[in-house]
This record gives sequence, structure tokens and C-alpha cells, in this order.
Amino acid sequence: MAGEKKKLSLTAWIAIGLVLGIIAGLAFQGAPAIATDYIKPFGTIYLNLIKMVVVPVVLLSIMQGIVSLQDVRKVGSIGVKTIAFYLCTTAVAVTLGLVFANILQVGAGYVISTEGLSYEASEAPGLMQTIVNIFPSNFFQPLADATMLQVIVIALFFGFGIILAGEKGKLAKDCVDSFAEVSFKVMMMILKLSPIGVFALICPVVATNGPDVLLPLLKVIVVAYTAYIVHVIVTYSLSVKAFAGLSPLKFFKVMSEPMLFAFSSASSVGTLPFNMDATQRLGARKEVSSFVLPLGATINMDGTAIYQGVCAIFIAEIFGIDLTIAQQITIILTATLASIGTAGVPGAGMIMLAMVLESVGLPLEGIALVAGIDRILDMGRTTVNITGDAACTMCVDAWEKKKEARKQKAA
Ligand code: ASP
Repeated sequence: MAGEKKKLSLTAWIAIGLVLGIIAGLAFQGAPAIATDYIKPFGTIYLNLIKMVVVPVVLLSIMQGIVSLQDVRKVGSIGVKTIAFYLCTTAVAVTLGLVFANILQVGAGYVISTEGLSYEASEAPGLMQTIVNIFPSNFFQPLADATMLQVIVIALFFGFGIILAGEKGKLAKDCVDSFAEVSFKVMMMILKLSPIGVFALICPVVATNGPDVLLPLLKVIVVAYTAYIVHVIVTYSLSVKAFAGLSPLKFFKVMSEPMLFAFSSASSVGTLPFNMDATQRLGARKEVSSFVLPLGATINMDGTAIYQGVCAIFIAEIFGIDLTIAQQITIILTATLASIGTAGVPGAGMIMLAMVLESVGLPLEGIALVAGIDRILDMGRTTVNITGDAACTMCVDAWEKKKEARKQKAA
């Protein structure tokens, strides 16, 4: 990655792109078509480039992470800790979302007309289907369609295959190392375009979602952001302090760069290189971060889980439906699963919201209500998502280091 000076300047440029994008968005409020027709396409190009490079980056970095561990048991040990951390923090996240939405009565007192609302939820798969869908029946299809959970399964199997092949797998190992490096360089080139990309993405959002549209839904935004912030500050500070012995202040200082990028791009996967760099600067080893982070960018979505909890309560209240405690527990379970199935790209969480609503029989039309503000909610949830991935990396790295130290002592 580039030197300290260069990195700082890219962050500054991204921040400038964000602020200019908001100002331009406000200016184009009278004529949002200009923003959507002429500025948004540049944001789309930028996102397309990120999508292009995401599959090789995730596939190769997870394979590289597995292969560099050299030992199937070690991958298992890191994998189990990572998934346990991800599941626990996600369940805490959605619970927080539900608690805040209930206490602050996120949907109470609104008379939003629900007439004429419609939402076609055909894309949301059922619970069992989501599990079946994780396993690919073809090697190339998931890569072509960027079905990230399936890409991870391929990376796991082939990574293990390389380790088990021993001496004969050496060529494959070298190829993975080499192509992983190449993919990262490509990603870095694309990231240099971030300031323009961020400008072009935020401007049409502000231009089309003027303050008038936002006002009635302001409470959803406030409640979701309150839960986002509490989760980031309380859950992650406590975990990095308690499990990794890391000062939360230092953690957030170094994390400010990937967090800012996640906020502006609303893509966990796009934020991956920034997150890798930040966690390594915080002291995590590359072999751990290159396994834990790409996995997290695909399956660990605490912010998305919070958002789904808050929206479920909001939609229930708007439609005058009382949710029982049992139904709220169902929401915790399905939102945890739905967030795992959510891809790390903008807007994906909203599609999976349908799965959560369906699990407790809430009307899917409610999604149309929150669709208009989705981007604003998405920016916050993505920031939470990637911070959770980094916190997990620091904790798993510390646990592994302790385990190795114990082993060395015993030897
Ligand atoms: N945009 C989010 C992410 O990339 C996913 C979501 O829509 O919730 O993490």
C-alpha cells in the first residue's frame, strides 16, 4: 500500500468528494434529473469497476489466507472463532436495534398513507433456500454472477485442496499469491478514483431525496443511527479492549479511513483494501486479516441487522400491528441469517429485509416506505458492518497469538 502521506491525501480527497457531492446535490434539488442523468453514471462506472475486481479479490485473498496458514486445523481454529464472534455480535446488534426501536417508538404517531404502496419481493429467498444457495453446483457460475457466499465456499475448498496437495500444490500456491497481489494492485488503481466516485454517488442521492421526503422518515434515520452508534461505541470498544487489549481510541483513529470510505461508498466489499491496511497498521497479521476480513465483508453485517430490526418495528407500528415477544425473537434469528445472506454492495440489505418481514407476517409493502431513504440508512449500516469486521480481526488475531504463546511455553 502507499506511504503514510499518500494515504492521508486520498482520505482527504474522499472527504472533499463527499462534501462537494452533498453541496452539488443540494444545488441540483430543483433539477434532480441533471444529477441522475449526467452525474450518477460516473458513480455507476466506479461501482462497476469495484464489482469487477471484487470477485478475484475475495476469492484469492481468502485462498491466500488459508494457504498461508499451512495447516487445516489452524484454519479451523481461526474460522470457528471468527464465525462465533460474527454471529454473537450480529445477534447483539439486531437486539439493540429492536430495543431502541421499541423504546423510541420508531413508527408511532405517523399517518403515512400506505395506499398505493407496492413492493415486489420476488428476489427474497426463503430460509432453507438461503442455506442451500450457499453451495455452488458449478465452479464458474458463482464467479461470473458474483454470488459471494458461493465464491467463499469455492475459496475454502480449493484453499484446503492446495494445503492437502502438499508439494504438488506448490505451483497453485505460488499462482494464488501472485494473482492475489495483482488483484490488489488493480483494486488500488480503482480506489484512486474514489473521490470522483463518491462525489458522483452522493450527489444524486441528495438531489432526489430532498428534505421534504426525508422529514416523515427522519425518526427511522435517528433511531437506526442511534443504534448504529451505540453498537459501534459500546460493543466494538468493549471487544477490542477486552479481547485484544487495544485502546478503543487508537482503534477508531486508525479505522477512521475505512469508516469514512464505507460511509461514502455503502459497500463493505469495496472497503476491503482500506480495512486490510487499517487492521495491519493496528497490528493484526496479514494471514489473519486476509482470511477474516473478506469473510466478514460477505457474511458479517451488524449494521444491516440493526437496520432490519428497526425497519421491522417501524413497519409493524405504521401498519398498527403489535409484535409479540416470540415474534421479536424470530426477527432476531432471521435478521441474523438475512444479514449473512446480504451481499456487501449498496442496497443489498433492503432486498433481504423482505425475508425478515415475511418471517413474522409483516406486509412487504412496508419496504416501499423506507426505500426512499435506503441510501442514507445504507451508508451508516455499511460503516458499522466494516467496523465489526475489523474488531473481529483484532480479537481473533489476539486470541491466536495467545494460543501460539501458550503452545510455545508448553513446548
Ligand atoms: N451496503 C451494505 C454493505 O455493503 C449491505 C447492505 O445493504 O446492508 O455492507
